[in-house]
Amino acid sequence: MDRKNFLRTMALLPIAGAATKLSSLQSMASSFSATEKMPVLFLGHGSPMNAIEENEFVSGFRKVATTIPKPKAIICISAHWETKGTMVTAMEMPKTIHDFGGFPKALFEVQYPAKGSPELARMTKDLITATDVHLDDRWGLDHGAWSVIKHMYPNADIPVIQMSIDYTASPERHYEIAQQLAALRRKGVLIIGSGNMVHNLGAVDWQNFDKDNYAYDWAIEANTKMKSFIMEGNHDALVQFRKQGKAFDMAIPSPEHYLPLVYTVALQEKGEVPHLFNDKAVAGSLTMTSVKIA
Ligand code: ZN
Repeated sequence: MDRKNFLRTMALLPIAGAATKLSSLQSMASSFSATEKMPVLFLGHGSPMNAIEENEFVSGFRKVATTIPKPKAIICISAHWETKGTMVTAMEMPKTIHDFGGFPKALFEVQYPAKGSPELARMTKDLITATDVHLDDRWGLDHGAWSVIKHMYPNADIPVIQMSIDYTASPERHYEIAQQLAALRRKGVLIIGSGNMVHNLGAVDWQNFDKDNYAYDWAIEANTKMKSFIMEGNHDALVQFRKQGKAFDMAIPSPEHYLPLVYTVALQEKGEVPHLFNDKAVAGSLTMTSVKIA
């Protein structure tokens, strides 16, 4: 390229960039026009077996879906996708990922063929300035997403994207990233954090897996405090979970199942009230407590 052509190309670049941005914004406006405000959810997903079992927790997921307007798309922050940096899935057709071992064949045969939404992925990337969001074409839907969403929307007729949890980011940064998703709530997007508030797999009492609402003292203590913080809107305490004492340390041996809750509460707006459901413990060291904020 000679100098003249080079300069001409350089001069055209910003215009071309702006035009691309404008046309992509216009197409977004057509798919994601303004809607009434969608609620935000935190879902305690528990065992992958909840995907194929009938129990009170899956009834809870189904029931909560009937209380909210049908979303145009879902963005799920799942405990099971941790990355360096923040990613959003941007493929047209996310695959169903069976990211577990030692379960019956029937669980590995589950497919959840919801479409993705490259458009929502780009929109999410553009909204977040607290970190660089990367578009991903390799992940898909992990069981943190599909094992719960399949009960809410069994026809898989709502596009789903996932946003990863950056394992290098502080809880404060996660809170900040989550807040920047706020505008999506008025574009028909349902934001779901999927994890478990109390989640200590090492301490699970396998002998008592089916015992109703069974929790160790520290699990009850941590879950009760978490619920108080949620109901009081004490987000500082929820973000500063490492300063809440021994019960919290036992309940959150690693933060990936807890952080989706931080994403959910970060989206609470003034005047919104949290509503708890599926508020039970399993096997001593897990709680299924779920939250709807609306
Ligand atoms: Zn999990």
